[in-house]
Amino acid sequence: MGPGHPECPERLDAIEDRLLITGLGDALERYEAPEAALADIELAHGRLHIASLRGLTDWLREEVEAGGPSHTQVDPDTSINVHTWKAALRSAGAALAATDAVMAGEISNAFCAVRPPGHHACRDKAMGFCFFNNVAIAAKYALQRYNLQRVAVIDFDVHHGNGTEDILAGDDRALMVSFFQHPFFPYSGDQNPASNMLNVPVAAYTRGMDVREIIEMTWMPRLEAFEPEMIFISAGFDAHREDDMGQLGLVEQDYAWITHRIVDVARRFSKGRIVSCLEGGYMPSALARSVEAHLRVLADL
Ligand SMILES: [Zn+2]
Repeated sequence: MGPGHPECPERLDAIEDRLLITGLGDALERYEAPEAALADIELAHGRLHIASLRGLTDWLREEVEAGGPSHTQVDPDTSINVHTWKAALRSAGAALAATDAVMAGEISNAFCAVRPPGHHACRDKAMGFCFFNNVAIAAKYALQRYNLQRVAVIDFDVHHGNGTEDILAGDDRALMVSFFQHPFFPYSGDQNPASNMLNVPVAAYTRGMDVREIIEMTWMPRLEAFEPEMIFISAGFDAHREDDMGQLGLVEQDYAWITHRIVDVARRFSKGRIVSCLEGGYMPSALARSVEAHLRVLADL
């Protein structure tokens, strides 16, 4: 994204470091992320959006070769460099490969430590550091490729997953549940645009205990009634108390608790099948500790 931008490579370095020093990394099976096929990206995005990102990349490459700037803005918060296109394809490809591995029974669940994130990417628009909607692509792919009837998307990022909503609203094979700080970027989600969306806006400075109660009262009955065959998580950790991007008060134990509740639903209805994809989380130390808490529950360690 360019120097000084919060969506930076150090985020993934912090996660890697944490896995190394805790020894947790040794207990996990690792997969490299392949590039997604464009036909799979098209399950969630319009061809024009895909072509424009590729075209912008080609244009930027020529500019860079001619001595021009290394980045170009897509929106005021979001820019690309010449590597963004491939990174975005591999980020979506990670979610797809994870879906394949989980559906094949090779692994029961997966966490995709990916950048760029995806949940603000709309069908026809990149925004909010996101280009392709990794989770929405994988959810649509699971429905099509594996002929599933019901998939759930659970989004616990501090920001509303407006892109995922844009892509999945009205598709009754998917249920999306989320909580997010409101009013706050992207200033959507105060209403449910379709019956398969459960948006729970929460005020700034809400603490983890209150969020847990909200989840118990709102998400759980909907998830249990829906009986998802597979669960996708938009795992943003920017609702952490130490993360200055938002003003919510979650801590590692809250992420562990939320993950336990999701694993519980997955065990009862989904044969344990979960694919979790990193979204936000901009304080590297808090991000890394929160991912560790999330992974320990997913991996039952
Ligand atoms: Zn976020």
